[in-house]
Amino acid sequence: MTRTTTPVLVTGGAGFIGSHLCEALIARGDYVLCVDNLMTGSLDNLSDFMRHPRFEFRRHDITEPLELKVSAIYNLACPASPVDYQRDPVHTLRTCVQGALNMLELARSCDVPILQASTSEVYGDPLQHPQVENYWGNVNPIGSRSCYDEGKRCAETLFYDYFRMHGVDTRVIRIFNTYGPRMQASDGRVVSNFIVSALKGMPLTIYGDGQQTRSFCYVDDLVRLIIACMDNKTRHETPINAGNPEEYTMLELAELVCELVGGASALTHLALPEDDPKRRKPDIEQARTVLDWKPEVSVREGLTRTRDYFRAALIPERARKESSLETREAAHA
Ligand code: NAD
Ligand code: UDP
Repeated sequence: MTRTTTPVLVTGGAGFIGSHLCEALIARGDYVLCVDNLMTGSLDNLSDFMRHPRFEFRRHDITEPLELKVSAIYNLACPASPVDYQRDPVHTLRTCVQGALNMLELARSCDVPILQASTSEVYGDPLQHPQVENYWGNVNPIGSRSCYDEGKRCAETLFYDYFRMHGVDTRVIRIFNTYGPRMQASDGRVVSNFIVSALKGMPLTIYGDGQQTRSFCYVDDLVRLIIACMDNKTRHETPINAGNPEEYTMLELAELVCELVGGASALTHLALPEDDPKRRKPDIEQARTVLDWKPEVSVREGLTRTRDYFRAALIPERARKESSLETREAAHA
């Protein structure tokens, strides 16, 4: 297929999910402009394709307007882990709201589609399970998670208002917990915390009694959904849940991580953070029917790949050289 040389814009493209999205878009022939302020992302995430002729990186904060010519916009810029988004809650809100406004204005001026990376956090601590897109949620407007939850809710409102007022081609996906390579070891999320602790032989930290649940989606599956959503030409009346319905308690997840890493890691219980949702699982019927999408990577398989990533990332440079020397020597023995 012939593609335009006008780039697609990926905001937050140096982050965990954004970097995988950039890579997948380049792989299918798109020109990609990645815009990121590097607040929680890193140029290391881009190293595999930084020099690709169809890739460009620009350091920019989306709370400031952008004037560019682009062919589509994927708006992913926003810190996503609770530790990260609570560090500067006012900036998180600005990113969600002012950032969304700036990107919507850009979409309007270029007359191009725009996709918003929303979140399952818009359901708050849900009273309905699993969560279907027409559920309005149960969100604390003034708590420590609110900068993110309410910011993302407001961004969704802006996306639908820009469609109604200005006819902008907006798409909204609600991403549930996603994991995989390029997560940061210190982002405080449960998957990275558990795997890194297990690899280091340290106790796994269970917040609260560990009976709260999450449903985990491997990043490659999510990226397929994001691209399918942008490519889909039908008008989406509501946001679309994006996640893998495989649901685990945090204790079950800890057990699985211990099994995959090997060795017996102890568990240690810490206080449950404020407003921590008790149960979370997406109903993905819309993604199945509208986008013909379903997750393909099981949690066991995805965690194994993520374990291998962290194992390689955590080995000090010297040990890596030694182990590759050993492998070469063994190959020649
Ligand atoms: P991440 O923190 O790894 O990536 C976010 C990226 O956005 C980073 O590179 C960061 O530097 C950049 N950024 C933050 N504020 C910015 C700003 N004002 N201007 C420009 N760049 C900015 O997080 P992620 O897990 O890759 O999440 C990506 C998107 O997906 C976010 O919008 C997040 O809300 C959404 N999401 C993620 C998950 C998940 O489980 N990972 C779940 C729900 C929603
Ligand atoms: N959690 C945990 N131990 C950790 C980190 C997180 O038990 O070391 C719990 C956390 O309380 C929450 C779940 O794991 O119930 C998922 O947390 P995460 O920060 O990954 O995502 P979110 O809360 O945004 O879903």
